[in-house]
Amino acid sequence: MTHTALITGITGQDGYYLSRLLLNKGYRVVGLAPPSRQSSVTKLGDLADQVEIYFVDLTDSQALAVAVEQMQPDEIYNLAAPSFVPQSWADPLGTLDLVTGTATRLLTAIRQIGLETRFYQASSSELFGHVEDSPQSELTPFRPKNPYGAAKLHAHWTMVHQREHYGLFACSGILYNHESPLRPPQFVTRKVSLAAASIKLGLSDRLYMGNLDAKRDWGFAGDYVEAMWLMLQADTPEDYVIGTGRLHSVRDLIATAFESVNLDWTQYVDVDPNLLRVDEHFQLVANPAKAKKNLSWQPQISFERLVETMVRTDLERLKTGAVAPITVDQQVS
Ligand code: NAP
Ligand code: GDP
Repeated sequence: MTHTALITGITGQDGYYLSRLLLNKGYRVVGLAPPSRQSSVTKLGDLADQVEIYFVDLTDSQALAVAVEQMQPDEIYNLAAPSFVPQSWADPLGTLDLVTGTATRLLTAIRQIGLETRFYQASSSELFGHVEDSPQSELTPFRPKNPYGAAKLHAHWTMVHQREHYGLFACSGILYNHESPLRPPQFVTRKVSLAAASIKLGLSDRLYMGNLDAKRDWGFAGDYVEAMWLMLQADTPEDYVIGTGRLHSVRDLIATAFESVNLDWTQYVDVDPNLLRVDEHFQLVANPAKAKKNLSWQPQISFERLVETMVRTDLERLKTGAVAPITVDQQVS
C-alpha cells in the first residue's frame, strides 16, 4: 500500500531533499503550505509535478486538522520555520507562533483524530546554545541563546510531552547545520559559494564577511533527510543528534570554496565589522553516536565535496543566468 507523507516547509531546502527521498521510496508526498506562499512552490523545480500541495494556513488549528484527517498520513515531517537565526531577533513572537504552534496543532490533530501517524519535529543544535560541553549528545542540557532556539526548544518539549503523555510516535531530530546548493544565500556556505563563483566569472570582485574564526559542524542536507526518515522507521520513537562530529571554520570554508576554482581567497575577502555576531565563542559540534548505533546513519558527503559541489552549481547557474551574482549590497549577515 502506498504510504502518505505530509511535509510542512516543503518548499525549503530540506523539503526538497526529503520529498525526493520519499518519492524515490514510492511515497505519496503532500506539502502543507500557506496560501500566501503559493509562489514558493516553484522552488520545488523538477519535483513540483510529483508532489501535491495542500494550501492551508498553518496557524488555523481547525483547517490543519481537516487536512490531516483528509490525508490520513502515515508520516508527518514538520519542517516549516523561519530558519535564519538573525531573523528571529526581528520577530521573536512570529517565530514562536509558527514553530511551536504548528507542532502543537499537528500533534493535537493526530491525537484527536486517533491516527497512528508518525511525527518528525525539525529541532536544531540551537537548542544547546550556550554549551559547556563539546561535543553535544542527546544528554546535553539545552540552553538556547536566541529566539529561534527558544522557539525550537518549546516545540521540542511540546512534542516530548505529547509523546510521553499520549504515547504518540513522535521524534525530534536535533540537526546541526546542513547545506546544499539549495541553501538560501543569506547563510554563510551559500554566500561563499556564490561569491567564489561570481568572482571566478569576473562578475564580482570583493567578498565581505563576518567572523572568519566562527566554526560550525556542517553536513549535506541530502544525508540529513535520510536520518529524518530513519527516525520514523525505528521500533521506538526517540530523539537523535544528527551532525558530522567535525568542526570547520568560516576561514576553512572560504579557502575550500576559492581553491576549488583556483583562486587565492586572501586577495578578495575583507572582514566587515558590521557582519560580526555577538556570542560566537560556543562551539556547537555533534556527537552522532546514537544515530550511528541505532539507525546505522552516518553522513556520506564530506565537507570538501559539499563546498565544491555548491561552488560548481553556482558557476553553472551564473553562466545560464539562473541566479544573479552576489553584489556588495547583498552581503548582509
Ligand atoms: P528553509 O530552507 O529556510 O525552509 C523553511 C521552510 O519553512 C520553507 O518551506 C518556508 O517557506 C517555510 N516557512 C518559513 N516561514 C514560514 C511561515 N511564516 N509560514 C509558513 N511557512 C514558513 O529551511 P531548511 O534548511 O529546509 O530547514 C528545515 C527545518 O529544519 C526548519 O525548521 C529549520 O529551522 C530546521 N533546521 C535546519 C537546519 C539547517 O542547517 N538547514 C538545522 C537545524 C534545523 P518559503 O519557501 O515560502 O519561504
Ligand atoms: P547559523 O549557524 O544558522 O547562524 O548559520 P549561518 O550560515 O548564518 O552562520 C554560520 C556562521 O558563519 C556563524 O557563526 C556566522 O557568524 C558566521 N559568519 C561569518 N561571516 C558570515 C556572513 O557573512 N554571513 C553569515 N550568514 N554568517 C557568517
